[in-house]
Amino acid sequence: MLQVITRVPAKINPVLSVGPARRDGYHDLATVFHAVSLYDEVRARAGDDLTVTMSGPYAGGVPSDATNLATRAARALAKRAGVPAKARVDVHKAIPVAAGLAGGSADAAGVLRACDALWELGASDTELATVAATLGSDVPFALAGGTAVGTGRGERLRGITVGTTLHWVLAVASRGLSTPDVYRRLDELRSGVSVPEPAVGEAILTALAGGDPGAVAASLRNDMQEAAVALRPELADTLRAGREAGALGGIVSGSGPTCAFLARDGEHSGELAARLDASGTCAQVLQVTGPARTGD
Ligand code: ATP
Repeated sequence: MLQVITRVPAKINPVLSVGPARRDGYHDLATVFHAVSLYDEVRARAGDDLTVTMSGPYAGGVPSDATNLATRAARALAKRAGVPAKARVDVHKAIPVAAGLAGGSADAAGVLRACDALWELGASDTELATVAATLGSDVPFALAGGTAVGTGRGERLRGITVGTTLHWVLAVASRGLSTPDVYRRLDELRSGVSVPEPAVGEAILTALAGGDPGAVAASLRNDMQEAAVALRPELADTLRAGREAGALGGIVSGSGPTCAFLARDGEHSGELAARLDASGTCAQVLQVTGPARTGD
């Protein structure tokens, strides 16, 4: 095969429920993953060894050494399949880095799909998901796309139906936030507090299935939001600006700092985006829709 191209979407979490810190420092999650129409594109071609290059607006913020998740994904798949890791991979990065949008996980998932095709492995979705889970807890969802409830560390997935196309406006910050830092701050904020096991309530699932943006907006919840705002107080201004601009609801995406605002429809999304842009509370405003699919 000469060249394989695959597109992988960013994700937001309409619900992110975080359980208590476990002995190993990790947290169990119960979350709704929702892929949105902001894509990194992975191209894989035959090569004599493995090279990974990054291009596009957000290429600069990504490590170019072996820690790059795209490189790790290619090596992990080759090892699992018992083939040499030979490919020329280019990732066009349109997903902001360290933004709470799981862009690195998207790249890893794209490389798994592209190299599976390039190397003609014919791996099943389950096999690819097994490799994905070794790379990061958001990678299995990035492989699947759509909308899903995630449990465990986010790697146990159950796909769910959304009864409509949802229109979101993303407010992107000028610099990223480190996910481990946000978890640390969350643990500090919770010190001495008894934290329940994580759960996704019925309300959001009913709202998504019914395709009612107002009901989805009323069910948005992110346990990491307070910690992200504590680390980046200006996010409170962004969230307020979104509300004042008429969003049905708004939330920090994952560990932040991107904020996601829900609009009624495409027209409302355009109005909301213009107002948010004019508020000067974020570096970039993007209009996206969800659920988005991987590989389109
Ligand atoms: P997380 O998935 O940890 O919640 P995030 O969604 O906020 O993180 P990502 O864009 O996935 O943010 O990046 C997290 C970190 O992973 C970055 O700080 C970066 O150094 C590292 N990284 C490694 N490879 C990649 C990649 N291909 N794209 C983006 N980041 C990468």
